[in-house]
Amino acid sequence: MNGCWKKGALHTHSFWSDGEAFPEQVVLRHLERGYDFVCLTDHNNLGLDPQFWLYVIQPEQGPFPGGLPYIGGCVWQAALDRYQADFPGLTETKTAADRKYVRVRSLPEVKSLFRRQRGFIVMGGEEVSFCLRTSRTRYQLHMGVLNLEKQMDCLSGRSLPETLRKNKDLYDKIRKRQKAPSLFILNHPGGYYYDLEPEALIENDDIRHFELCNSNVDGVGGEGSFRHPLLYDNEKFWDIVNAHRAEDGKALLLGAASDDSHYYTPERIDLRTGVGRAWVMVNCPGRFHENTVVEAMERGDYYPTLGVIFESVSFEKGTLRIRIKPEEKQKYTIRFVTTRRGFSRKVNSIDLTGDSPRPPRILSVYSNEIGCVAAEFAGTEAQYTMKPDDLYVRAVAVSDKATRCRGTRHPEFETAWTQPYRKNKS
Ligand SMILES: [Zn+2]
Ligand SMILES: [Zn+2]
Repeated sequence: MNGCWKKGALHTHSFWSDGEAFPEQVVLRHLERGYDFVCLTDHNNLGLDPQFWLYVIQPEQGPFPGGLPYIGGCVWQAALDRYQADFPGLTETKTAADRKYVRVRSLPEVKSLFRRQRGFIVMGGEEVSFCLRTSRTRYQLHMGVLNLEKQMDCLSGRSLPETLRKNKDLYDKIRKRQKAPSLFILNHPGGYYYDLEPEALIENDDIRHFELCNSNVDGVGGEGSFRHPLLYDNEKFWDIVNAHRAEDGKALLLGAASDDSHYYTPERIDLRTGVGRAWVMVNCPGRFHENTVVEAMERGDYYPTLGVIFESVSFEKGTLRIRIKPEEKQKYTIRFVTTRRGFSRKVNSIDLTGDSPRPPRILSVYSNEIGCVAAEFAGTEAQYTMKPDDLYVRAVAVSDKATRCRGTRHPEFETAWTQPYRKNKS
């Protein structure tokens, strides 16, 4: 895997929805931190409105004034001050009926502002977001759609799998109508508490990408961090889906990682929901452009990481070889993970209805034969040759450097994952 690897943020929020910065600032903070591209993915908003004004709340108005919508409604004067410091002379304000407003730049404007930054790309996108509330709990379904030209509105269904299907169908239609390639990523399927189970991705095998790690959601403490010992973590979720897909001859699910960033002030940018804990590396040889990033991801030519970087990854004739680019004073472990043909497909249910204060759920428990460590090595390079019964193989490289995100669904140490490979197919 020689090539030209680009560091990218696939999932970010700004004042277009519930992020706490102007979109230009979101881009700037990533640029400063060595990213090569950033996708702006606000909730149900592609940022195309050229007349999107926010009411500016003055400090003397005290706490958040009633009657104002939090999302897409207003901004604190302190946030405007920071914006003016970042982009002097470029902010646009007006006063109407004694109220001060600031305009939020649209996606085309933000893109053109950074066009002169050579070797850096701003991609448009959305987090198509749906929340299903029942009398006792809520479930969330969030879908990343990248490089769209027109806004995609979220469709509702009676269940999460039904809603997923409806929105994927709508996305497919939109995708066919536009010239540029685009990408659909299922975001944080675990949500805050096992929101979407693996069955949904076993059935909907046209969904090719998902967030294996979302350092925001996975790093949540308390209720959201709960993991029942019998249930799956994110890696097991991945293996459950891919074991079934591989045995059935379907396309494998590929993993992504993101920060799902919302906060960008100096006090919060290095904490959870800030910038720089989880990202993707995408191989873009040749022209570096939104479209080539998407095409590389479609080919599976990317990997998710929390800090560990691969020097090389190759898969030839059933042998997966990886070499890590070592950081000083860090020690590494490399694991190869597979599921063997003929694994038990038996699924048991577990009733967590009375598991207060966590929301009630009845969940599926899958066989321990799924997602087994086939080999483990200490050091910076290793290889594994698939056995005849291995359905796929993937590698996980773990450093002894702790991650800055805690929460039981989030890895404790810096990690990178290769995509899963299988013979004759990627
Ligand atoms: Zn989300
Ligand atoms: Zn998000």
